[in-house]
Amino acid sequence: MADIIQLLPDHVANQIAAGEVVQRPASVVKELLENSIDAGANSIKLIIKDSGKTLIQVIDNGKGMSATDARLSFERHATSKIRSADDLFSLNTKGFRGEALASIAAIAHVELKTKQEQDELGTLIEIEGSTIKNQEVTVTPTGTSLCVKHLFYNIPARRNFLKSNNVELRHIVDEFHRVALAHPDIEFVMYHNGSESFNLPKSNYRQRVVNIFGNRTNEKLVPVEEETEVLKISGFVGKPEFAKRTRTEQFFFVNNRFIKSPYLNHSINSAFEGLMKDGSHPSYFLNLTVDPKTIDINIHPTKTEIKFDDEHTLYAILRSAVKHSLGQFNIAPVLDFDRDRNLDTPYEFENKRVSTPSVEVDKSFNPFQEEKSPSRSNGSFSNYKKEPVAQWESLYVGLESKSTKTETDFSEVRFESEPETTSLFDNDKQVETSQTTYQLHNKYIISTIKSGMMILDQHRAHQRVLYEGLLKHLTVKESVSQQLLFPLSLEFTSSEMEILQGLKEDLEHTGFIFSVFKENVIEITGVPINVPESEVSIILEQLISDVEQEVPDSNFSATDLLAKSMSKSLAIKTGQNLTRFEQEHLVNSLFACKEPTVSPTNKVTFITMSVDDFDKKFI
Ligand code: ADP
Ligand code: MG
Repeated sequence: MADIIQLLPDHVANQIAAGEVVQRPASVVKELLENSIDAGANSIKLIIKDSGKTLIQVIDNGKGMSATDARLSFERHATSKIRSADDLFSLNTKGFRGEALASIAAIAHVELKTKQEQDELGTLIEIEGSTIKNQEVTVTPTGTSLCVKHLFYNIPARRNFLKSNNVELRHIVDEFHRVALAHPDIEFVMYHNGSESFNLPKSNYRQRVVNIFGNRTNEKLVPVEEETEVLKISGFVGKPEFAKRTRTEQFFFVNNRFIKSPYLNHSINSAFEGLMKDGSHPSYFLNLTVDPKTIDINIHPTKTEIKFDDEHTLYAILRSAVKHSLGQFNIAPVLDFDRDRNLDTPYEFENKRVSTPSVEVDKSFNPFQEEKSPSRSNGSFSNYKKEPVAQWESLYVGLESKSTKTETDFSEVRFESEPETTSLFDNDKQVETSQTTYQLHNKYIISTIKSGMMILDQHRAHQRVLYEGLLKHLTVKESVSQQLLFPLSLEFTSSEMEILQGLKEDLEHTGFIFSVFKENVIEITGVPINVPESEVSIILEQLISDVEQEVPDSNFSATDLLAKSMSKSLAIKTGQNLTRFEQEHLVNSLFACKEPTVSPTNKVTFITMSVDDFDKKFI
């Protein structure tokens, strides 16, 4: 039989390699920015059109290339950064594989202009799908400009696979952030569709973080500094009370390279243990410096995962450094008086209670009556924390929650800060008679039905109730707003603003009233009738995170997503103690829904067990 093995032509090999290096426009952005940094630039411009689908251009003032190098740079395995495999272990450049430009040129139209300082004139090269179309001498400033147009023009499958402009832009901005955070000493500017998205002057690390994430970030940063023989740590963690629902503010850099490390992330989480609300994630911006010999960067084509020689030691050092910083800056909730009232924890609540005696205003106070007296508890609690009570009640859309019992007063307060807290007065429930519902582990509601028993998941059930209510408001467009006494001002990053802008109209249909909606600030003067003010920022954050995770090709509907997201944020949480009244109303409201059997995300809301089922078990 004839021989059948052939060497793949270069352009095919390059296209295959491109599959690994270039997944989406953001990958090109990363490679080009990194090349500019490796070229010693101190000013880098990124120009994007249509989320990178039409144009990605990076202009730097680095050292440029000679005409020969410019031509060679597009060859596979052509690099100026390493000479031998040994060099891999003393790397101080971003690139070294010599693959990026060859890969990009295989799947796009590329135009390179470059000039070295000592030369009068520079070089222009145009390539399409690995074929050189033009090379000439040109007038251009010192440095390099690389223009990538029509990415994936010759691989329609890949092009079709790209996500919506919003999603692709989000990825680009993420890459831009990562590179810019790793290099505060370099000036970065980014333009999208002709307008400036970021302008980051050369600065120190703290300023860089603030320039990217907004002025309000400054107050939440806690410095972390540690130097040991194996590891140097510098950077910031966010104070726990500012923790986000999303993981968008979590950054590790190892030797100035952004990396992903679930293991090290875990070590930070464990340092924050006990300080975080459920479902929120600490922010961190940490630079780790280690001996290049102790890491292997070569394990992943995009170099975002690296292997450490001694991960366990790094874990321990990192954890203790973060813990130490949190302790040193008095992050213990008890001691921190400057906190956002919306994020109150039970600790602070107790503080407040001590500092303002309730007796003065509570005429019916009876010291011998203990906490069981409704009047005392109402007096002492509602004085200092009026809103949560109202807010808690308003969470019961369609439940008409109206319990005046002491136990709810406590759970109301605890709900907002710590949904897991069980009621202190669980026993009180036993007193009530003719019970038809029963709450199991503050998670399930058990109810007797004709055929036997029904078990309902309280969180999912409430989500369904809220979801249908919200959808109605959104589609009928006749929402009811409640005016805020003082406008609520919230700051977002530009990319978050872009997402919110897309949902603004829908948000207004639910009852939000915006007085300012520009640049990085949103000012809210009215909120939907059932939404507590303290939940607003959580709702919006959750919404942004949900949009980011949404696969736009699936039947993306902004209205539906908004209703789902808000119902998730507002629904009674697992762990919340409910009065019998509330339990019964939840059951009734669920069965008044159009689709009571599943939650908005298609999860089962309740199951039933018949007496027959039980009988079988008792055989
Ligand atoms: P790598 O970065 O892994 O070396 P690339 O394909 O990204 O591989 O780049 C190939 C070579 O082209 C680099 O090694 C560098 O010498 C040169 N080069 C690329 N971009 C620039 C730039 N912006 N300025 C100067 N030289 C560059
Ligand atoms: Mg490179």
